[in-house]
Amino acid sequence: MEDMMSSLKDTYRLYAPKRFPDGSIRYGEIDSLSEIVVDEKSHFSPKEVYLPIVQTIFYFKDNQCEESEIEDGRDILIFARACDISAIERLDTIYLKNGGAQDFYYKRLRDKVKFVLIECPESFDSCFCVSMGASITDNFIGILRDGKIDTKSEPVFVSENKKSVTIPDIDESIVKDVIQLEYWRSFDENCAGCGGCTAVCPTCSCFDTIDVIYSETSLDGERRRVWGSCMQEDFSAMAGGHNVRKRVGDRMRFKVMHKIYDFHQRFGETHMCVGCGRCDERCPKDIVFSDIINTLAGKVEQLKAEGGAGR
Ligand code: SF4
Ligand code: SF4
Repeated sequence: MEDMMSSLKDTYRLYAPKRFPDGSIRYGEIDSLSEIVVDEKSHFSPKEVYLPIVQTIFYFKDNQCEESEIEDGRDILIFARACDISAIERLDTIYLKNGGAQDFYYKRLRDKVKFVLIECPESFDSCFCVSMGASITDNFIGILRDGKIDTKSEPVFVSENKKSVTIPDIDESIVKDVIQLEYWRSFDENCAGCGGCTAVCPTCSCFDTIDVIYSETSLDGERRRVWGSCMQEDFSAMAGGHNVRKRVGDRMRFKVMHKIYDFHQRFGETHMCVGCGRCDERCPKDIVFSDIINTLAGKVEQLKAEGGAGR
């Protein structure tokens, strides 16, 4: 085993869900397969490995710019569950197939990534990956089984979850009514707008950029890309004091619609959400995303039955 790990580490940086001193289970580099936490769902997704929370994209000095470089040239092997492997395909769509240009900083890390599947013999309580079509994947080079990497056996996937969702059947004729539903106003009070749900989400992709100047008197510095969150008020702030989504209920509507309508509408593939359930587990206000999806599905059917009453 020691030899196998040593030879793997010649080729790969190895990332897996492991327990940190603060008790959280997050993705970090491992030296041994025994460090991998397999019987609990990680609190954070593997996203931070290929879409770092903070990433220097270039350095500037006077009028010159210099691209950042990846310090460790090895490929990246990530131990992940089917939903999280499915999630990277959603991020690929956002960063590589959106608007005809590929994101250079995402692609250079993404091209290095391979997966080892962590099987889920049973679903965790908050999962609804089956409803989202994200419970199965073939994007892995081996399976973590019995403390080893198995490259020969067939994988085991969950075929049902304790939770299921009905995706709202929204079409273009009704989308404006959905946006104006009074339902979103309930989140003005109930949601704290903290962005915790988006930080743990394997498919949330928003970022901001900041310039860090090295000293008050110099023009030297670096531009960093940092995770952003559409659930936070500042994210939609604009010049002149405008904010297109000042009310938190509007931000919730934007996030929900992106996850289960807009992404699919734009790209025609899957929905964005993979049903990992992490957002529910992290929410300090006990907001349950799967309940929102099901409630919205009911309200959409009601709108249709009323023939657009209130449009
Ligand atoms: S849904 Fe929950 S986690 Fe997300 S912004 Fe609102 S309070 Fe925070
Ligand atoms: S369940 Fe929540 S955290 Fe998981 S992919 Fe869907 S929106 Fe993101």
